[in-house]
Amino acid sequence: MTIPPGGVCAPGSTLVNKTGGWRTFKPVYDYDKCIKCKLCELLCPDASIDPRDDGFFEFNYDFCKGCGICANECPKGAIEMVLEEK
Ligand code: SF4
Ligand code: SF4
Repeated sequence: MTIPPGGVCAPGSTLVNKTGGWRTFKPVYDYDKCIKCKLCELLCPDASIDPRDDGFFEFNYDFCKGCGICANECPKGAIEMVLEEK
C-alpha cells in the first residue's frame, strides 16, 4: 500500500496491509503447557491471537508483528519466540 505524504488511509486498511512481514521472531504455542487462561489473547496489541473451538488459541501470522508480549506474559511459558524463516 502506498500512502502519499500527508495522505489519509481509507477506513479498514489495516485488514489489507498485512503486517506479519515485519516480524523477526514469531510466537509458537506449546499446547501441552497452555492452561487456556486467555491472557495472551487479551494482551496482544495487534489482535493477532484467535480462539479455537477447543479452547486453545492460534496465531494469525498475517498480522502478528512478533513483539513477544504474549510470550513474555504467558504464566505457563507456553509460547516460545523462534527466529522467523522466510
Ligand atoms: S497466556 Fe499462555 S497459558 Fe494462557 S492461554 Fe495463552 S498460551 Fe495458554
Ligand atoms: S508476538 Fe505480539 S503481535 Fe504477535 S501474537 Fe504475540 S503479542 Fe500479538
